[in-house]
Parts: sequence; C-alpha cells; structure tokens
Amino acid sequence: MLVSAGYVLEEDLERADVVIFNGCMVRQKAEEKVFGRIGAVVEEKRKRQVVLGVGGCLGQIHGAALLKRIASIDFVFGSSGHQSLPSLIERARTERVAELSEPIFDTELKVRRGNGVSGMVTITEGCSNFCTYCIVPYARGPMRSRPKDLILSEVEQLLADGFREVLLLGQNVNSYGTDQAKHGSFADLLKAVAQTGIPRIRFTTSHPKDLSERILQVMSDEPNVCHHLHLACQSGSDDVLRAMNRGYDRDRYTTIAELGRDIMPDLNITTDIIVGFPGESDADFRKTMDLIERVRFGSVFAAKYSPRPLTKGADLTDDVPTCKKEDRLGLILVRQRAIAQEENQRLLGSNVEVLIEGKTRMGELYGRSGDHRTVMCAGVAEIGEMVTVRVEGSSASSLSGCILHRENSGGEP
Ligand code: SF4
Repeated sequence: MLVSAGYVLEEDLERADVVIFNGCMVRQKAEEKVFGRIGAVVEEKRKRQVVLGVGGCLGQIHGAALLKRIASIDFVFGSSGHQSLPSLIERARTERVAELSEPIFDTELKVRRGNGVSGMVTITEGCSNFCTYCIVPYARGPMRSRPKDLILSEVEQLLADGFREVLLLGQNVNSYGTDQAKHGSFADLLKAVAQTGIPRIRFTTSHPKDLSERILQVMSDEPNVCHHLHLACQSGSDDVLRAMNRGYDRDRYTTIAELGRDIMPDLNITTDIIVGFPGESDADFRKTMDLIERVRFGSVFAAKYSPRPLTKGADLTDDVPTCKKEDRLGLILVRQRAIAQEENQRLLGSNVEVLIEGKTRMGELYGRSGDHRTVMCAGVAEIGEMVTVRVEGSSASSLSGCILHRENSGGEP
C-alpha cells in the first residue's frame, strides 16, 4: 500500500522518515522485543522528525492506550485496515491518532512477495478455537475463509510470475471452509491448488482436531503437495491439553500422526510445544517427552508459557517457576536435537528433490527437500530450480550433498 502511495522502503533507521512496527502479541517475549526496538526510534526522534506507528496484533490489543503509554508514538493501527495506512501516516504528521477496525479480510490488499521462488497465500484469517493460552482470536477475530476462486487466481498469478512453490497460510488451515460451506473443504482446496500445476505446495498450520484422513489422502495422491505437516501438539498430557482447550487428546494426536505415516511413509511431522502451562506437573511433562520419543518429530518449536492478556489462561496462576520452565525447555531441545540428527542420518545415501532457494554468504546453494529439510547443495544450479541431490552429510538441522541432476540442463549437474 505504501509503495503504491510513493513511499520507498528504507532499512536504515537513521534515514527513515516513517517507522512502522507490525507487532506480535503471541508471546510476552515477542511483545517485549517490539517495545525494546521502539525505544531506539524514540531516541532517533529526539534528534529529528520521524513519524512512528505501531500496529498489527500489538496495535489491535492495546489500541489508543499505546498513545498514552509512549508519548513518541504518532499513530496506532490494528490487524486489519491496512488500506488506510497512507492516509493515516499523513494525518499523524499533524495529530496523534489511533485507527482500529474490527478484524476484516482486506481482499484487495496488495501483496509484496519475497524471494521469487516461494510465495505465501493466505487462505484463512483469524481463529475461532480459543485455546486458553492464545491471544490470536482476540487480536485477529474469528476464522474467516477466503473465497476459493481468489486463492486459486493468486496461485495462478504466482505461477505466471515464475514462482515454484506456494505456502497456503492460516492459523488452522484444516478448518478452511467450515465457516462458509460454499468454499468447500480444505481437502477440496488443496486438490484444486494442486491442479494449477504449481510445482510445490506447502501449508501451515495444521490442527490435530481438524486434520482429516481425506486431507492426508490428497497429500499422498497429488505429487506436487509436500509430505510435511506442521502439526502443533503443544503437550503430551491429556490433562494439560484439556486445560488448554485444544479439542483433542494424546491418543487422537498419535493416531492421526500414525495414519499420516501409514499413508505417506516419508511424511515429516514438525510441531509446537508449550512448557510450563499452569498446573503442568513433572508427570505431565514426562508425557510430553514421551510423545516426542513416540512421534519422532523432524523439528520442534518449543516455548515457555507466558500469560497473555484477555485469555482464560491469564486468570490461572502461572505456577510453574521460570527455572523449571527453562529446565523443561532445555530437556526438549537436547532430546529433539538427537532425534533430528538420527532421522537426518537415515537419509544418508538417498536422493532428494531440492528446490533451490538461495546462496549462503560463502556462495553455497541451499534449498529445501519436499519434506521440508534444509539441504546444502554442492554444484551449479539457478535459484528457483528443482534439482536432485545425493545426500552425503547430515546434522540435526540440515542435510548436504552434491547435485546429481538439474531440471534446466537436461540432466547435467
Ligand atoms: S488454534 Fe492456534 S491460533 Fe487458534 S486459538 Fe488455538 S493456538 Fe491460537
């Protein structure tokens, strides 16, 4: 929106006329980080004129109170309504202003996409699940599905622009269409996106309660859908899952994960885990560690619980001491690292299809395999090219090997 209004992106704070923070509220740490960085802009504003805006979920939740809390903030916006950002900035040059709308779907919003290889397409906004620790339903409103034809035309546009991969995005993609049946289900959408012919399709995040056998079947049937599921488990204890209002138990989680691997033996499952949710005992935590052993995730994003405003969790006593949360986090990271290393080692000697995404500072090519592993590639290829790599090295975080085959060269590495 700002580029269309004549603004130019400036990465150097000392040269920017307008600074905007699109702030996250999901974790206390993320929120604190934004406030820390706002401090640097406040310093800059002492030296010269800068317009400072804060928005996103942070703006939506705190609203006009941010103007009171930090005198240097000139304008506040929410998680929707970006269309009016250019006019909001102009107003903020003469008055301090907070402009918040109900979270809506800005279907006309222009999108600036990253690397020309992989493009994100939002399929749902918001979430109606109200997990007791999560602020998303308050910050982003109820789940709304985007019309299927708009999604498909965006994917077709990506394809026409030379993109090789689409990442379908939503807080809970598996519930796509449950708010408006006319859009069909997520499995229908996935099939339709596959039929556009885009070489690779990924999606995130999947919710264990809504992931159906049909979705797994479409993943298996359509050759361009990647065999990777980011399936947030959050805990391995039924008591904690119930207190979190996750809507499934441990048995449902392991059953759907096993079904996925029966249908796609090479399926890579990654997950999110929260440690130290109120009431999480040592026995509860052991059940989480046991789930990690059982499912053998490709990677785990683990975080310490922190109470978020407005949520039901915020009414509970945050009774797991910080040092215990840190110990639990450490135990997960150490064990998961070993599992990831073992899983990656199993791929030594095999051939994997890699989409080249870029070059490191040292000039080495890297990309991702279909099951979402990072692969360092020796040889020559173009960014955006699909290559076959023989895996010769592995660590907990990546694979490495030589390019055996390039799609653009008729086979020459
Ligand atoms: S499903 Fe995800 S986004 Fe929705 S409330 Fe639960 S944790 Fe938050």
